[in-house]
Amino acid sequence: MADTRQNERERTAYHEAGHAVAYLVAGRTFRYVTIRPRSAGITGQVYVRPRRIDSIQLAVIAHCGPIAEGRFLLANTTEDEMEEGGMEPEDIIMSAYLENGRGDLETVRYALTNYGSCSDVVEEVASAILDKQWGAVNA
Ligand SMILES: [Zn+2]
Repeated sequence: MADTRQNERERTAYHEAGHAVAYLVAGRTFRYVTIRPRSAGITGQVYVRPRRIDSIQLAVIAHCGPIAEGRFLLANTTEDEMEEGGMEPEDIIMSAYLENGRGDLETVRYALTNYGSCSDVVEEVASAILDKQWGAVNA
């Protein structure tokens, strides 16, 4: 998959759509979602109304961005590209965490510090939400 500016915009859109859908599943509303160019790339944000949120929900919502972005990248990477790069599907998902999801990982760490550790379960819940709501993310 060519790493163009359009591609960067799309992967950011999937990332933010993942967070946005997860907020809706959690019963939260958001004011708007942005995707904008920055000098160091394109970033986005989901603007929610300030309200207390359960730590586990926050961690799940944080995971949904990088996972949705990773699924988009995976869907747009050919088997030849994977083979050339010596990549497995997990590597592509991981690249979404490392490139655009560092802030989300901080949020997960913060949220789970308040609650205790169950990060595997939280990531599985985030994946299950995206499985069920992929049509909405993809819209
Ligand atoms: Zn994010």
